[in-house]
Amino acid sequence: MTALPTEPRAAVSALLALDTTSVKGTLPVIALLEETFAAAGAQVHRFVEPDGVKANLVASFPAADGSLEGGVLLAGHADCVPVEGQVWTTPPFTPTERDGRIYGRGACDMKAFLALIACVAPEIASARLSEPIHVGVTWDEEVTADGARALVGQLAQLGIHPRIAFVGEPSNMRAIGAHKSMNSFTATFRGIAAHSSLLPRGLNAIRYAAQFIEFFHREVVDELRENGPRDDAYPVPYTTGGVNVVRGGIARNTVPDLVELNFEFRALPEIAVAPIVAKIEAEIARLDAEMKAAVPADPASDASLVGAELEIVTLLAGLASGPESEAARYAVRLGAHPTGEKVTYGTEAGIYEAAGMSAVVVGPGDIAQAHAADEYISYEQLDECLAFLRNLIADLSHG
Ligand SMILES: [Zn+2]
Repeated sequence: MTALPTEPRAAVSALLALDTTSVKGTLPVIALLEETFAAAGAQVHRFVEPDGVKANLVASFPAADGSLEGGVLLAGHADCVPVEGQVWTTPPFTPTERDGRIYGRGACDMKAFLALIACVAPEIASARLSEPIHVGVTWDEEVTADGARALVGQLAQLGIHPRIAFVGEPSNMRAIGAHKSMNSFTATFRGIAAHSSLLPRGLNAIRYAAQFIEFFHREVVDELRENGPRDDAYPVPYTTGGVNVVRGGIARNTVPDLVELNFEFRALPEIAVAPIVAKIEAEIARLDAEMKAAVPADPASDASLVGAELEIVTLLAGLASGPESEAARYAVRLGAHPTGEKVTYGTEAGIYEAAGMSAVVVGPGDIAQAHAADEYISYEQLDECLAFLRNLIADLSHG
């Protein structure tokens, strides 16, 4: 294993060449960054999950007096979204430089940010810092954000409690201080398969799933839109949600025994999510009881699994602090663009804010390119981010 190249574009490309689609884990990127930060003199800690492929990294540059108290956390995720089903004109895991841009999966979301921190690592190491700089790199942000939840515990375990977190999700280097929460779920409805001509011996799972779909849209989504808070700083100023995937049924003449629904809601950060989840759980429990009570005496097939079940995929906390937060104001002082804009996409920043840090989203690249085919990062954004990181080092240095 060798360290990352120190030239910024080469460093970005080196990370983009590693396929760390969420399901494959983050280990190759984590290992390379670990090597790079360790070579620069940071205290590094790798945390590997039991599956052996999902890993977090904490790299710390203590203050000049050796202290790890407070300081700034530079946070990012090492996983990326899949490319399946997308039409790319450049190979997604063979980074390509063209027209002042580097193309590749994860270019803006968010390996460029990680690569640039690695590039300035020797500068951080040689600075006489008044406060420590910590780097936190996580797994699975694109799925559950459980890597960031794990990181919070790992930082605490290391005695690290940063004052400020800069989360380098693509924001065109604007300091974004607020985003909605993102809450996603899977509901499964199991009925009894039967030939449709023998209806009384079956149990139609779609019928119960349909009740849930109607409940969710009317009692949760419409209710929050009509009676919940509004905030015009968001492109969509209220809480949104929907059942966005329905899978179920096999044939017109067969009573369907299995339906899976994927649904989500994105709430203004001031909305308490727990009571909404409780309301959803109560409806699932009601439908579960109704389905079990409807099992016929002589079912046409196995009835042992009949019922409704809810899986919470993730509850990604909103970021509420806004443009006046300590982190947002500090980011602007370091050269980030000020903005009152609030965004609808979720990030790990809400998790860090809930853990007691002042958090802000500030990173190179445009969210419009994230997750898309031909994802790229422009040289201009790389330069802006590098300048930002160097301003941070200078600001925390004793001259
Ligand atoms: Zn991201």
